[in-house]
Amino acid sequence: MFHRITPRWAVAALLPLLIAPAVQAEDFGACFQALRGEAVRAGVTRAGFDKLTTGLSPDLSVVKLLDDQPEFKTPIWDYMAALVDAERVADGQARMGQWKESLQAAEARFGVDPATVVAVWGVESDFGRSFGKRPLLTSLGTLSCFGRRQAYFRSEFFSLLKLIEQGDLRVDGPAGTDGLVGSWAGAFGHTQFMPSTYQRLAVDFDGDGRRDLVGSVPDALGSTANFLAKAGWRRGQPWGFEVKLPEGFDAALAGRRNKRPLADWVARGVRLADGQALAVKAGEGAGPAGVLLPAGVKGPAFLVFSNFDAIYGYNAAESYALAIAHLADRLRGAGPLVTAWPTPDPGLSRAERRELQSLLAARGHAIGEIDGMLGAASRVAIQAEQKRLGLPEDGRAGQNLLGLLREVPAAAAPLQASAPAR
Ligand code: CA
Repeated sequence: MFHRITPRWAVAALLPLLIAPAVQAEDFGACFQALRGEAVRAGVTRAGFDKLTTGLSPDLSVVKLLDDQPEFKTPIWDYMAALVDAERVADGQARMGQWKESLQAAEARFGVDPATVVAVWGVESDFGRSFGKRPLLTSLGTLSCFGRRQAYFRSEFFSLLKLIEQGDLRVDGPAGTDGLVGSWAGAFGHTQFMPSTYQRLAVDFDGDGRRDLVGSVPDALGSTANFLAKAGWRRGQPWGFEVKLPEGFDAALAGRRNKRPLADWVARGVRLADGQALAVKAGEGAGPAGVLLPAGVKGPAFLVFSNFDAIYGYNAAESYALAIAHLADRLRGAGPLVTAWPTPDPGLSRAERRELQSLLAARGHAIGEIDGMLGAASRVAIQAEQKRLGLPEDGRAGQNLLGLLREVPAAAAPLQASAPAR
């Protein structure tokens, strides 16, 4: 739950830091000396600050990530295909059984249903499988001292130090190797809370006296439900539905914030995508709704209520909220979207991405780990195969490329000069 914002200054400004590591380490120490007073005013003890920051070295790669523009814009159909695939639905349903008691308790206390809470867990950390790989104190310490938005990251850094001091989080490693890991920007644990969100909204849901979103699944599930409740989740209400729009629907009426009473949409000819009566399905007490068109009027359309906005509050992106919402529906047993995404080349599930990576590796491309994540090395390999096949070299892989690579055995394909992994 951290959002990239447009860089204000060039990465070039960092180059002197990147080529002078000795100066960096000194600067880091001096920065912490200067930060100590600020940390104490924010509620961190002086002794705790010194103990937790001693031995930390800066990691300037996180400053670069703060300024990097995403080089590759992911189409919504690729984003959804990887986040809501058969594997994640099966995993999520298993987790709903495994953590049934905690989920029921969370629903009783916060009003958020099990499927929605588990969908957030699945999208945020793949049910606890991926917390992020970067040492948290190092990343947040670095971003507190270098780069844009230092004030923001200092506040997150101090929140993290307080969480450790309070005993909510445990630091296992020796000084400088804290053992706490997360995203480069400092989101961590089962539900990828930022430290300030954790400080504000985490709950001890297993009753051991600690709010532990790293080691306790019940704490993480309860805290997610609490987050959504505080973000305005309304008990018993739907997030929304996939709908069919009438012919000639005015796209200017669309927009999550452009809400109208349900009766107004019904009068305009908006129907459920599966043909059911919209007003009946939405039930009593459904508030106003907006029409969401993530891929324009030719793609799937959704009618979204205020619970969709609560999910959006978790991570301000409509595609993100839609992935959670649709995954929650699938966990409850619903089928795939009725309307196809408007593309001749649909996206790949994670299983299909792993298959694609294996096919690329069999052709001699150095793509690193077969992990279903199409990163920079995979894209270079995809472009090489696109070139060989006479396709546009956009580095994107969909069903078309996977189908073509399946057809031609690796032995029959000329071995590519593989690009080095980046
Ligand atoms: Ca606990």
